[in-house]
Amino acid sequence: MEMPIPSDDRIARKSELMSRLRAALPAECVIDDPMETRAYECDALSAYRCPPLGVVLPYTTEQVAAALRICNDLDIPVVPRGAGTSLAGGSLPTADSIILGVARMNDVLDTDYANRIIRVQTGRTNLSVTGAVETDGFFYAPDPSSQLACAIAGNIAMNSGGAHCLKYGVTSNNLMGVRLVTMQGDILDIGGAHLDAAGLDLLGVICGSEGQLGIVTEATLRIIHKPEGALPVLIGFDSNEVAGTCVSDIIRAGVLPVAIEFMDRPCIRATEDFAKAGYPDCEALLIIEVEGSPLEIEEQLEKIIAIAKTHKPVEVRRATDTAEAARIWLGRKSAFGAMGQINDYMCLDGTIPVSQLPYVLRRIGEMSREFGLDVGNVFHAGDGNMHPLILYNANEDGQLELCEKFGAEILKLCVEVGGCLTGEHGVGIEKRDLMDHQFAPADLEAQMAIKDVFDHRWLLNPAKVFPLAASASRRDQGV
Ligand SMILES: Cc1cc2nc3c(=O)[nH]c(=O)nc-3n(C[C@H](O)[C@H](O)[C@H](O)COP(=O)(O)OP(=O)(O)OC[C@H]3O[C@@H](n4cnc5c(N)ncnc54)[C@H](O)[C@@H]3O)c2cc1C
Repeated sequence: MEMPIPSDDRIARKSELMSRLRAALPAECVIDDPMETRAYECDALSAYRCPPLGVVLPYTTEQVAAALRICNDLDIPVVPRGAGTSLAGGSLPTADSIILGVARMNDVLDTDYANRIIRVQTGRTNLSVTGAVETDGFFYAPDPSSQLACAIAGNIAMNSGGAHCLKYGVTSNNLMGVRLVTMQGDILDIGGAHLDAAGLDLLGVICGSEGQLGIVTEATLRIIHKPEGALPVLIGFDSNEVAGTCVSDIIRAGVLPVAIEFMDRPCIRATEDFAKAGYPDCEALLIIEVEGSPLEIEEQLEKIIAIAKTHKPVEVRRATDTAEAARIWLGRKSAFGAMGQINDYMCLDGTIPVSQLPYVLRRIGEMSREFGLDVGNVFHAGDGNMHPLILYNANEDGQLELCEKFGAEILKLCVEVGGCLTGEHGVGIEKRDLMDHQFAPADLEAQMAIKDVFDHRWLLNPAKVFPLAASASRRDQGV
């Protein structure tokens, strides 16, 4: 993975930078001891690492603005960070940049049940947003599998999704407003506690902008009434393709489950050893959850099971109570950890039209044999958001590069069948150099022109999202 050469001039300004930051912020907010900054040298794409010049962890929006003004003044790049769980290298620092993390900014600022809204500082973790409202019967719908750790900041920057987004949508569908600090230290309020906003829809630009346009410090989020009940059914199949066809048929039939999750044999096997969820011995399984009143649940599950039966499932296991439901979900929720126990892996993230699932699953199997690397599939099948996990040995020379090549081919396949390079993990550094497979030069130019407006010297989150060649002149000379 190529990264730009760090600027010696910027590195030489480190002591001036640190003393100005320390003068402006409380002492504990500024870290430059290499032992402590080590924790920030990578995110969850841990194959790539680089220690930053320093780390700033403010408590308030005003402190974020003060830090950005200083960095802007000294021409120091800034990498925004939430919890560092990005799988795309989105919060990877460069040696001449600082990390600006919002982890200390985790307060609930306002809860408004009458209007179904919560306002939080963006360092708050995803799960603790629901934690703040669940005793009153509400929840925050987007549910990344990393929700215990990841912050709303990163969710907004990556437009994160999760298992239950088939019904409720991703972050952009549940985000109403943000407070954003620009690289120049200006504080902007975009959107708010109302369904639509006057003026240009800048919120749509900010959500998913991967830390390229500003630092989001506060968010107004939609909260939803908890459904009366929810139950999953687990359905096992004797091939990946048949399971994929079943997903496509369910969606075509107009049933809208809250989640349709897919796991193939390598993931099922690893998960069984790890979590012992009692999954059947089969090639692929689907976990399909529906919700509503007992009558609605009954009706939807009947339809789904009838469709599944046309595909000769090897097992249909319907949860009848919450204990059984939790057991069905246990394996799926443990899948990433379970795979990590048996091998190094790279987790890809691409989206395809649901109807292409059978073809793409077959092609991934064929490509796995061509590249000589095993793949496990565990993903949000209902919305076509695939997560092939390519297994490799990080200690063997050349394996990472082979894995990257294989990953690139899978993502190109997603684009070829009418899908997209990203589903929910964002572009980061991981897919940066594949962007020109998805976008024509004029498309990329339009996106980069938006960054010019917010961050005209290209100091925010350098070398992410845009192919290095396409962004070189802007990064090197400013605009
Ligand atoms: C085991 C595991 C499972 C996962 N499952 C899912 C899943 O189901 N769905 C999903 O969508 N993702 C998933 N992810 C990926 C990851 O958790 C999400 O991308 C998440 O939203 C990142 O949040 P974070 O707070 O950790 O952000 P970080 O990793 O800190 O940063 C992510 C990006 O956001 C930018 N950013 C961070 N804070 C700010 C800010 N305040 N203002 C502007 N930009 C900012 C960063 O610069 C970076 O580009 C998973 C990750 C792991 C490790």
